[in-house]
Amino acid sequence: MSPRKHKAPTVATPSAQAQASVAPKALRRRGTRAVPAAAPRDATAPDMSQAALEQFTLGLPPRTLVAPNFRLYELTRSDLADRLGIDNGFETVAQLRVAVHLARNVLQPVRNAFGPFTPNSVFRSQNLERALKKKPSTWLSTSQHATGEACDIEIVGMATLELAAWARDHLADFDQIICECYDPAKGPNSGWVHISLKPPGSGANRKQCLSYVRDTSSGRLVYVHGLTAMT
Ligand SMILES: [Zn+2]
Repeated sequence: MSPRKHKAPTVATPSAQAQASVAPKALRRRGTRAVPAAAPRDATAPDMSQAALEQFTLGLPPRTLVAPNFRLYELTRSDLADRLGIDNGFETVAQLRVAVHLARNVLQPVRNAFGPFTPNSVFRSQNLERALKKKPSTWLSTSQHATGEACDIEIVGMATLELAAWARDHLADFDQIICECYDPAKGPNSGWVHISLKPPGSGANRKQCLSYVRDTSSGRLVYVHGLTAMT
């Protein structure tokens, strides 16, 4: 069956020329509320997207813009932390600055290429890491998420492996890209891409590409070199 054809609207409109000359006046007269010239500035959301990392301090409002399209709260939000009542805020100013550096140099380029998205996970406090990995209170995570150096991302509808390869080929720098648990049989968004980036002054980034996949002989998840899907 062919899709139903929509009838063209029959509302009479003035000629283009007449419309152009009357529209601004009509707009000004319409209704009782004046149309604001620009959206009012949100005082609770300072724009620090161009600020130097040294200007970032703990206690900034959650909606602070830290990169052109990312806000502070996106670097600490966690469904698991919310569910378990874990405070996943930055514990040190160093963690915050490292995560902002990551947002600007990893999240923002991905956003520029593929449009709006919010990361699955960026900073994870030690308490959140313990909860996530079911470890005792004495255990210390060495994950780069715990220092603010790593993010887990996916782009809706884009194969995880494709996103990992894009990051490898287009990011100016990265420490590790890991294609994690990507099983094409489960759809393009199965798994996620882990990307880490060390901050300036903390050594060279390794530019290492790995995959976290199930070893067919042992049935366990293992890290392997290169970007690959589950087989
Ligand atoms: Zn990760």
